[in-house]
Amino acid sequence: MDFSLTEEQIMIRDTAREFAQSEVEPKAIELESRHEFPMELTNKMAEMGFHGLVIPEKFGGAGVDYLSYLLVEQEIARASISLSMTLGAQNSLVAIPLMECGSEELQKKYLPKIASGEWLGCFALTEPGAGSDPAGMATTAKRDGDHWVINGTKIYITNGSVSKLAIVWAKTGTKPDGKAAITTFLVDREQSPYRTGTIEHKMGVHASPTTELIFEDCRVPASHMMGKEGEGFKIALSTLNAGRLSVATQCIGIAKAAYERAKRFSKEREQFGKKISEFQAIAFKLADCAVGISAAELLVQKAAWLKEQRGARDPEFISLAAQAKLFASEMACRVTDEAVQIHGGYGYMKEYRVEEFFRAARLMELVEGTSEIQRLTISRWELRD
Ligand SMILES: Cc1cc2nc3c(=O)[nH]c(=O)nc-3n(C[C@H](O)[C@H](O)[C@H](O)COP(=O)(O)OP(=O)(O)OC[C@H]3O[C@@H](n4cnc5c(N)ncnc54)[C@H](O)[C@@H]3O)c2cc1C
Repeated sequence: MDFSLTEEQIMIRDTAREFAQSEVEPKAIELESRHEFPMELTNKMAEMGFHGLVIPEKFGGAGVDYLSYLLVEQEIARASISLSMTLGAQNSLVAIPLMECGSEELQKKYLPKIASGEWLGCFALTEPGAGSDPAGMATTAKRDGDHWVINGTKIYITNGSVSKLAIVWAKTGTKPDGKAAITTFLVDREQSPYRTGTIEHKMGVHASPTTELIFEDCRVPASHMMGKEGEGFKIALSTLNAGRLSVATQCIGIAKAAYERAKRFSKEREQFGKKISEFQAIAFKLADCAVGISAAELLVQKAAWLKEQRGARDPEFISLAAQAKLFASEMACRVTDEAVQIHGGYGYMKEYRVEEFFRAARLMELVEGTSEIQRLTISRWELRD
């Protein structure tokens, strides 16, 4: 069993680490406090080729293996979780479904725009009445000649306001078993305009816009349907299954950032005439954090390997990706909480950043399937006959 990274994976990770530490880290506190989308850094990430990591070279991407992409995502998350949300959206939530289910024509036209960062994309599934249960969505698409006409409202869409392209799910009918037939569409904002509604005020991750998107008689060419009519639910699930590894790696990035700060602080801060790291109560907290991070890394590494072997629709991979996301997000919440505790009152202050990581970690238990939905997925696989 070989756990070592290849030379190429190390090189890609180190390039991302150098970029994140030199370009992103110094600006991260300001970015979060301004609550603005970091366009300049987003463009710099595009120049580095990070927007198209998973996209094949023939479409202008880097065409790296999935683990390499996850390593880049983790390094960016260590410096700014908001920026890493953009990488996740571009690569895992937009490029991957387009590569797997988009027609050749759609791939040729849109993958190069995503890879170069010229266009930002978003993944528009959630609605006010349909979160964990997307099949209950109210958005509809009705066929009208050579077009589909989409009506409905999506909420909590990462990068919705800055997107030029949205992968959208809509109800296109009812299946013979009475369930909703859901279909996926690529909506090009220039060709088929949609509106940004509310821009949410969140607990954290402020430099990543989370917005409402409104589709009013939005006419989308029939050629922009992705996959077959009525098969959208499968596309959403398979995208989210792989996407969970992207969230898990972000969690490891957040946890590492908080842990490194807590370790450094504990070796500098003195109370009762000693470094606080010399108190077993503090040293054991650090030990528990290190165990959590290592275990999450192993889960992600194994799940990424299984995905390369069997693909994102393999049931064992689906369960393992859910395990990785569940474990890594709960681990990140614990580690960031302990990092605040180790910092004492300083941990509550913005300049130390651990309170920012604590708030960011909490999001990870909610997105791309809540912890309850991950447990549901895992238990279904475990209890199979
Ligand atoms: C910052 C942010 C960014 C986001 N970005 C995107 C995005 O880019 N695109 C997108 O489409 N969505 C996005 N989302 C939406 C996110 O994926 C949903 O919020 C999430 O799936 C949960 O749905 P919900 O909020 O409707 O909660 P609900 O589904 O209403 O869940 C409420 C509670 O009930 C529990 N629950 C629900 N069903 C079950 C069940 N069967 N068994 C046990 N417990 C259950 C849940 O676990 C949760 O605890 C984002 C959300 C946030 C906060």
